[in-house]
Amino acid sequence: MQETSSTQRPGKVWFVGAGPGAPDLITVRGSRLLAEAGAILYTGSLVAETVLQWASPDCEIADSKSMDHAQVTAWLLDRAQRHDTVVRLQTGDPTLYGVLAELARPLDAAGVAVGIVPGVSSAMASAAAAGECLTLPEITQTVIFTRLSERTHMPERESLVSLAAHGCTLCIFLSIERIEAVVENLITAGWTPAAPVVVVHKATWPNEELVLRGTLSDIAARCREAQVDRQALILVSPALGARAQNDYKPSKLYDAGFPRRFRPAREPG
Ligand code: SAH
Repeated sequence: MQETSSTQRPGKVWFVGAGPGAPDLITVRGSRLLAEAGAILYTGSLVAETVLQWASPDCEIADSKSMDHAQVTAWLLDRAQRHDTVVRLQTGDPTLYGVLAELARPLDAAGVAVGIVPGVSSAMASAAAAGECLTLPEITQTVIFTRLSERTHMPERESLVSLAAHGCTLCIFLSIERIEAVVENLITAGWTPAAPVVVVHKATWPNEELVLRGTLSDIAARCREAQVDRQALILVSPALGARAQNDYKPSKLYDAGFPRRFRPAREPG
């Protein structure tokens, strides 16, 4: 921990992705910054506290769970006057569904340097936990990260019905409390009730991860039964279950006839 006097140049505030939960899923850069930080502010309701094991023992660690926006800003500005390295630890990747821009704005205005370290998003962690792929050759090559509209106003052109109509992979965040509405939107968009759905609760959290599989017609009941009503990601995709299908088309990338930069194409046979 490096203390600096308030007369010196302020330190740098890093928005670090904590990853989805397992402490070893933070990046090497993220854990190095936690070790260097003089002060860390984390979102206690979302970030697994085990990730804080990478912090130095004399680091000041605070939970922003009960702070409002102004208090978080004031905390970061104040600690940046006193430490070279200050970390705002966010769940998953800090650029997704967080308030990075809102928090960075006053830091930018105050001339405090800001850095961002990416993290493993819960979308990636959920696919891995379920053993699924988000893209599949010829089947779907597009992934949409989205959510149901709720308190956060959704742009009209991004309604779940219109996005789901593409038929590609959907990673649906922040919507498990309204899984029935998600299902309704997907059916309206043209998905069949038999379409597979995976819900992952607390992906990669030690001893807490739960993977629920179902179809659009029964996934809501399965979630209710398992009491999964928060911190879960909903995956809907024509790629789900691909490993169990034998008639899939292999990727051209590994096709011997497909030329790549470092490998000339070979004649088949
Ligand atoms: N920045 C985060 C998302 C924050 S929004 C990221 O990149 O993952 C919070 C939402 O993310 C939750 O409502 C849930 O939908 C999802 N989420 C966060 N952590 C999760 C986890 N470990 N498992 C499943 N979903 C998770």
